[in-house]
Amino acid sequence: MAPTTAANVGLAARDASGHLSPLTIARRNTGDNDVAIKIMFCGICHSDLHSIKNEWQNAIYPIIPGHEIAGVVTEVGKNVTKFKAGDKVGVGCMVNSCQSCENCNQGFENNCPGIIFTYNSVDRDGTVTYGGYSSMVVVHERFVVRFPEAMPLDKGAPLLCAGITVYSPMKYHGLNVPGMHVGVLGLGGLGHVAVKFGKAFGMKVTVISSSPGKKQEAIERLGADAFVLSKNAKEMQAALGTMDGIINTVSANIPVAPLLGLLKPNGKMILVGLPEKPIEIPPFALVSRNKTLAGSCIGGMADTQEMIDMAAKHGVTADIEVIGADYVNAAMERLAKADVRYRFVIDIGNTLGDCAAAVSE
Ligand code: NAP
Ligand code: ZN
Ligand code: ZN
Repeated sequence: MAPTTAANVGLAARDASGHLSPLTIARRNTGDNDVAIKIMFCGICHSDLHSIKNEWQNAIYPIIPGHEIAGVVTEVGKNVTKFKAGDKVGVGCMVNSCQSCENCNQGFENNCPGIIFTYNSVDRDGTVTYGGYSSMVVVHERFVVRFPEAMPLDKGAPLLCAGITVYSPMKYHGLNVPGMHVGVLGLGGLGHVAVKFGKAFGMKVTVISSSPGKKQEAIERLGADAFVLSKNAKEMQAALGTMDGIINTVSANIPVAPLLGLLKPNGKMILVGLPEKPIEIPPFALVSRNKTLAGSCIGGMADTQEMIDMAAKHGVTADIEVIGADYVNAAMERLAKADVRYRFVIDIGNTLGDCAAAVSE
């Protein structure tokens, strides 16, 4: 264990109120296969909010959330070959896995029974993992992603979770074919990136949203081809049976059956959103016209690198609101109300130190 130092600080929730405040932490010394990273930016994913409020009933407090980490390498272990000090890198939702099972060998560390998440997870050495709302992190090189030269750290950070979470199901469920019609349900952090990847793949993209105020920018700024307001019966009726697939990113429990109606026969809805309560599916909504409902959890490391490389090539980045560390609790309140266009990103490098110092004074 590295000694606990004042410079090594994070923003932690201590209980289900989810209130975040500074906490001094220890990170392990840089091991032979490890990369030490100075964190510059960290995106705020809705999973961070679910976690700090213990909505999934699995919280290990204190929780330092954050799994959309972008930063700069400060030190590497002696066996590390892929990175050197000064490299721009990212870390997403995983920091370890068994690294030897069939899933890991095929590049699907995300499906490893021994997956270690970036925060709120017990690592293989018995310590609890702390996420990216913190000054630095030490990660096995397998779980570090290289930032392409053209990819900015701030607008690229959200790709480490939001990006791979929508890219992977598009790739593996055949929703990356030019001319196909994909629906993006929920225009938040994940959803807006899904729109951009859909267009980069050459697809027709329709946003299905509960927020009328997002229509204009969905089409004009994000490049969607169409917008369906899910509360508008006429618009839903007109879209019935038109989509090859839907990426469902909604973070809340909503009735899914009417949305399955938007699929063509044999169409697929891929669930990536993780609302608190079980989802109700009337059997006929799936069985009639041979629909599929599938789930998808982030993506493997090779796919994550492929995703960010493709994003750089096509100019896909997140639309972000950069905030200081002292704004994080207000940001969480706004995220709960879907009041963000479209991802908060914390400027860790410039503001976390001051925020921690102000509280300890
Ligand atoms: P987000 O930015 O908050 O976006 C969620 C969107 O869902 C909102 O912008 C809103 O879009 C819609 N929504 C929210 N409440 C709603 C309600 N009551 N009724 C209808 N629509 C509602 O969240 P995110 O960061 O994109 O994450 C989305 C979900 O994916 C979360 O549950 C998160 O935990 C999960 N997630 C899963 C994975 C995975 O590996 N599967 C990875 C990351 C995140 P509109 O305003 O357009 O309706
Ligand atoms: Zn996430
Ligand atoms: Zn494994």
